Amino acid sequence: MTENTVPTVTLNNGTTIPQLGFGVFKVDPDKTNRVVRDALEVGYRHLDTARIYHNEEGVGRAVRESGIARDELFITTKLWNDDQTRPAEAFEKSLARLGTDYVDLYLIHWPTPERDTYVDAWRGLIEIAQSGRAKAIGVSNFTIDHLERLIAETDVVPAVNQVELHVDFQQAELRSFAAEQGIAIEAWGPLGQGKINESPELAAIAEAHGKSVPQTIIRWHLDIGDIVIPKSNDKGRMAQNFDVLDFELSASEIATIATLDRGEDGRNGTNPIEFN
Ligand code: NDP
Repeated sequence: MTENTVPTVTLNNGTTIPQLGFGVFKVDPDKTNRVVRDALEVGYRHLDTARIYHNEEGVGRAVRESGIARDELFITTKLWNDDQTRPAEAFEKSLARLGTDYVDLYLIHWPTPERDTYVDAWRGLIEIAQSGRAKAIGVSNFTIDHLERLIAETDVVPAVNQVELHVDFQQAELRSFAAEQGIAIEAWGPLGQGKINESPELAAIAEAHGKSVPQTIIRWHLDIGDIVIPKSNDKGRMAQNFDVLDFELSASEIATIATLDRGEDGRNGTNPIEFN
């Protein structure tokens, strides 16, 4: 087992989040208990789920069965689009499925701009945070326009924006806006959702450090300051993805990786402006 020395990021409300976590998108609900138990054994202490992944129960069970104290864990879940008009009720249900009385981070999963409900949903999350049962609140898949509107209308800056971000889609403009506003960026699909960038540049950097390309990519996320939540069903790959704490990329290696950005052409997922 790798020693757990994951760095933390301090969020804008003073709480801290382990910079390297474990995502469970597309983890089969029936296998989630086993997969998350494996991840906890490997050393992950930050778990990222969502109502729409239908595996909050499995995450909660794994946490309880692991015997790890709740306050040693960081658990994120997300408000699904259909629930934007009833965040308090949806939050209660997520807590019940997780079997916990608080989450560390609660996110609005998508802005769904056509529905025009995300600002009211955000007001709901603000109340949840005031109740103390979400230690921090944030958003996911928000563009600069969505963030500007939330901040202008509520004066509460999200702690986190969890967005698609990987070597092929580096989101420089959004990252720079988030840095100015004190919003931490959390990278989803950090390995390109399995479409791992196999460029010779990355292979050479990986070889120089005696690491694999996926490890080099995860280290890159850490070194540029983002929170990163790779997913794997396989304990060996979970361990590989966690074994990134004993090296660092140089400024010139980070500059080389910056040249691999393909902008919008590199995006795998849905553009949040088009999402409905
Ligand atoms: P990732 O970039 O983490 O890639 C996961 C894929 O990569 C899986 O197919 C996995 O296969 C494979 N993989 C993992 N590690 C390795 C490795 N070392 N070598 C080769 N292949 C590997 O994509 P995700 O979409 O899962 O993103 C991570 C997390 O981000 C999600 O689990 C979820 O928590 C969050 N997310 C949030 C979204 C949002 O809208 N907010 C959207 C999408 C994701 P295998 O399992 O077989 O190892």
